[in-house]
Amino acid sequence: MENPYAPPQSELYEDKGERVWQQGRYLVFDRDVALPHRCYICNQATNQRLQYKVTWTHPMVIVMFFVMLFGMGVFADLLHHATLNSDVQAIVFILYLIVMLSLIFIKRRFKVSIGICEQHYQKRRNLTITAWLGFITSIVLFFLATYGQSFELLMLALGIFLGTLGVAIWASQFNIRARKIEPRLICLTGIKKSYLNSLSPMP
Ligand SMILES: [Zn+2]
Repeated sequence: MENPYAPPQSELYEDKGERVWQQGRYLVFDRDVALPHRCYICNQATNQRLQYKVTWTHPMVIVMFFVMLFGMGVFADLLHHATLNSDVQAIVFILYLIVMLSLIFIKRRFKVSIGICEQHYQKRRNLTITAWLGFITSIVLFFLATYGQSFELLMLALGIFLGTLGVAIWASQFNIRARKIEPRLICLTGIKKSYLNSLSPMP
């Protein structure tokens, strides 16, 4: 007889919502939808999740930043010719700078919760730890080399640094980045093909 208290086995393979699609090499989904219980790297069924924060800057914000950056001289010039005393000029110019710099922080943020299998979770974590350890080791060795005036240590520091760079580049293949964050829809890149191919294309 079937155990009515057994967890539903089908849940592991079930796609919870229909509002998850592939669009070429991108994953597009509604922000309220739970992503499938599958590894985003190998597409194996899994209940393990990876929590990952992504950010996205609207292109208009980037355009505004550069317009303000390159328009700084023109603005200062206009301000100089306006009939304002120098204190007011300074304050207005500082306000201009504050607005310009605060544009850097105007970002849309989203916390992704995506499936990852145990094997890839470990692999990802080990690569990250290796990269951090290598980075810290190379910095310590660099300081020791400078302090001790040792050319051999300096070469060792450089070698470890380059090795670390290689690990970091290798690890970056598992990175998930936002291609777009809209009020409703999230578009991600970095999701592997087998996962994407199991989803229906975006209408
Ligand atoms: Zn996997």
